[in-house]
Amino acid sequence: MACYICGQTATSVEHAPAKCFFPEDKRTNLTTVDSCSMHNEDTSKDDEYVRNIIAMSLGNNQVALDHFLKKCIKSFIKSPKLLKATTGINKRVYYKDNDATDEEIKPTYTFKIDRNRIDLVMRKIAYATYYKKYGTTWNRELAIGTEYLRNEGLGADDFGLLIQAAKKVLIPATFEGNNPEVFQFSFQQTESEDTNDQILIMKFYEGFEVWVFPLSDTTGPKI
Ligand SMILES: [Zn+2]
Repeated sequence: MACYICGQTATSVEHAPAKCFFPEDKRTNLTTVDSCSMHNEDTSKDDEYVRNIIAMSLGNNQVALDHFLKKCIKSFIKSPKLLKATTGINKRVYYKDNDATDEEIKPTYTFKIDRNRIDLVMRKIAYATYYKKYGTTWNRELAIGTEYLRNEGLGADDFGLLIQAAKKVLIPATFEGNNPEVFQFSFQQTESEDTNDQILIMKFYEGFEVWVFPLSDTTGPKI
């Protein structure tokens, strides 16, 4: 058995996504990959942080909402410090929803997020997903993009804009996954015929999409 990151002899298995993404009653058929002792470092704090960010986001399904109410809110009530640690500064802003039919200005909250932690967790899930599907390591460095996390001006970040452009030309994705209520994924072919150059779309709780872009002329995996 070989490690999903480095290909060396594996000594343990790792869940992808991590177990904490799944409510207790939805932990059948979880996906695992083999990993070596070096790449099986404990990232459970990062996994929980990212789980909270995703579960707090709008547009997810009831599974995310229930999981959020049960796990995240409880832990925030117990420890307001944890809320601050998860979200950074809280400041109230007023935001006009582009999809709203009325001219209502809605109060909302913005918070600073730790993109490095999100990217680390997402890269690991992406590499594991590729390894599981193709039986070999993903030989590219990966960039992580999402439309769901906005920059400070409430605009999409650069990758968010790239996703919006890609959505106009790609055919609608067909997703696969053992636990679709929690996690689904879809590999999208680009002009290149090399499977390493595919774009990977990962969808959490039937709402939150993360796009994974392999960087051309790079070799990987690189965490
Ligand atoms: Zn390894």
